[in-house]
Amino acid sequence: MTDSKKIEFDQIFMKLAVDISKKSHCIKKKVGAIITKDTRVVSTGYNGPPSGTYNCDRDWPNEGCPKSLHGGCSYALHAEQNAIIFAYKNNIDLFNTTLYTTLSPCLYCARLIFSSGIKRVLFMDYYSKYKDIQIEEGLSFLKEFKIVVNKFCLNEEIGSNK
Ligand SMILES: [Zn+2]
Ligand SMILES: [Zn+2]
Repeated sequence: MTDSKKIEFDQIFMKLAVDISKKSHCIKKKVGAIITKDTRVVSTGYNGPPSGTYNCDRDWPNEGCPKSLHGGCSYALHAEQNAIIFAYKNNIDLFNTTLYTTLSPCLYCARLIFSSGIKRVLFMDYYSKYKDIQIEEGLSFLKEFKIVVNKFCLNEEIGSNK
């Protein structure tokens, strides 16, 4: 694949990650993830409790969902986790795939990403910035084990094409 073609697909898939994030029922932060192999989407996910359980915005519209000790939703799986779990449930091999996520992976997700065989991660926003913490534990973990990690900005032309 040529570089320009690769960038074009990166734009398309990151746009898709943004779109799928809008399906999240989280009232704090909506995150979307897309996993691709070559030029095909093999899995998608957004953050939230396991399907068939709760929808935070519907079940706790006023007070918000119960928070864990770390301050996050105590029921929610992260977008990357949901995308990886869906793939495993459907016997989709994630070896050599690319992950597009609207928020950089946390440390828990980074371990899963590495273990599942994903080789490249593109993200839009920094998890540390959102959480107001100093370090990107997830990105450091991925880089340590030679996963290709890049911050990616959506091209306005494609990003605003609605
Ligand atoms: Zn929640
Ligand atoms: Zn995570």
